[in-house]
Amino acid sequence: MTKILVLFLDGVGLAGPDPLRNPFSVAEMPALRGLLEGHSLVADAAPLDAQEATLLALDANLGVPGAPQSASGQAALLTGINVPARIGEHYGPKPNPAIQSILEQDNVFMRVLRAGRTAALLNAYPPGYFASITSGRRLYSAIPFAANAAGLPLMTAEDLQAGRALSVDFTGEGWATQKGFPPAPVYRPAQAGEILARLAAGYDMSWFDFWPSDYAGHKQNMAQACSLLERFDAVLAGLLDAWNLQQDLIAITSDHGNLEDLSRRNHTRNPVPGLLIGPRELREELARCLVDITDFTRAILDALGIEGSGEPESE
Ligand SMILES: [Zn+2]
Repeated sequence: MTKILVLFLDGVGLAGPDPLRNPFSVAEMPALRGLLEGHSLVADAAPLDAQEATLLALDANLGVPGAPQSASGQAALLTGINVPARIGEHYGPKPNPAIQSILEQDNVFMRVLRAGRTAALLNAYPPGYFASITSGRRLYSAIPFAANAAGLPLMTAEDLQAGRALSVDFTGEGWATQKGFPPAPVYRPAQAGEILARLAAGYDMSWFDFWPSDYAGHKQNMAQACSLLERFDAVLAGLLDAWNLQQDLIAITSDHGNLEDLSRRNHTRNPVPGLLIGPRELREELARCLVDITDFTRAILDALGIEGSGEPESE
């Protein structure tokens, strides 16, 4: 049966190949370029139906004015509901009570588990993260909130040490430099990608929440952005090497644009990538129904063959 890894990249949109603004047109990303048959991850490349991957441009504005935000955008990806329209605005970065309540009622983790299938969020979180959630100093972002609401325990330093999860930078280098973080393995990027493939093979649906891409977009530093993307590409290379492309699907998407335009500090209204990697027939089937980020949940459930995935119950 098909397994799906959702590789979520926060704040990544599709824009023109402007080398002064768009790090995707500057960074050396051979793995991504290979998938896209020579193209960079820029607006002109989509739509693309390549040998191993399909690239779509997905609307993240959802008919609501203003710049899309992380909490409402991620909640739309996770539920299939037009969350910005329902709450009357794009909202973020962390879910407010209205978004929390939408995520608690139903989300893609819950649906997969309800169908008797397995799911995981493969990020490991440091002890300080849990402490600050418990004390109320920090709110969950939408993806860990949804996983938690579905009863999936977030993974910890122990999971990281045991090789059951990865830290947000994939390799563990960032974790190793943080004061007071417990010791954890440090991998080469390609090795981290192989581990991600192995971990994802253990679940019907797994997610990885990569938020440094949005952070880099806000920082507006081209060299740092390129370095982040080049490291990501090296992880992707390892992931692809170890992935069963004939059977399993990797879905890379985002909640809103940001990193693709370093000329501005805030989010953009650009479309976001819907990059599907895996069996061609499945990609073609899913591509037909993927127009905006609210279509994502249905695409995942369809790919997993989970019935009743047509419409969200509460819509
Ligand atoms: Zn942001």
